[in-house]
Amino acid sequence: MPGDPADELRAQLVSYSARLLADGLVVGSAGNISVRAGGVVAITPSGIGYHEMRPADVCLVSLDGTELPDNAEEPSTETPMHLAIYAATEARAIVHTHSPEVIALSAARDELPAIHYAITGLGGPVRVAPYVRFGSAELAAAAVKALAGRSAAILRNHGAVAYGLDLAQAYDRALLLEWLARTYRLALSYGQPATLSAADLDEVTAETRRRRYGERRGGQREGPLDVRHGGQREGR
Ligand SMILES: [Zn+2]
Repeated sequence: MPGDPADELRAQLVSYSARLLADGLVVGSAGNISVRAGGVVAITPSGIGYHEMRPADVCLVSLDGTELPDNAEEPSTETPMHLAIYAATEARAIVHTHSPEVIALSAARDELPAIHYAITGLGGPVRVAPYVRFGSAELAAAAVKALAGRSAAILRNHGAVAYGLDLAQAYDRALLLEWLARTYRLALSYGQPATLSAADLDEVTAETRRRRYGERRGGQREGPLDVRHGGQREGR
């Protein structure tokens, strides 16, 4: 149907699905992404390689998990996790990755510590949720618990999840998380890395807020989170 808002959501998911592969955040058809508009969630289908995904393959579900009619494919197996995160947070888009740095970290650590102030863009040190089987209600609950006060969480022996107020922000946070995990691994190669204190992080958060306020006063639009500049949302 021309002008259907769902078509815009489908196009966004196809575009970002291609980026997931290109950026090394998933392989094959692993991981999944979704966008919420009102009471409807558009989510990538189960088992279709991102390189061959078409807009018509994107599935629509309601927030209570009911599939909307005319889905050509099965919604992602992690649909329950996406819906639980929408129910518990302000998320409007969610990116679930199977990216190597976070998976490696998840197998060996309980948390990604703050070795760089950009982690304030995710709310602080990122928790590793305990392992439970993919697609389970228990995984959905574990992800929501690990996300308390954070916009990203790592899932042990599985991957990571990040959310945002739009897909660009959720995606940038997923990239930031992978970059932080890689940077932490590099730091470990030198020995025990120094980490930032809660006070250090609070100071960064306060300064970020102050600068955002200045940007708004200057009439600039807030843009998506930019991982090159410490995770703050930059005017673009
Ligand atoms: Zn997964």
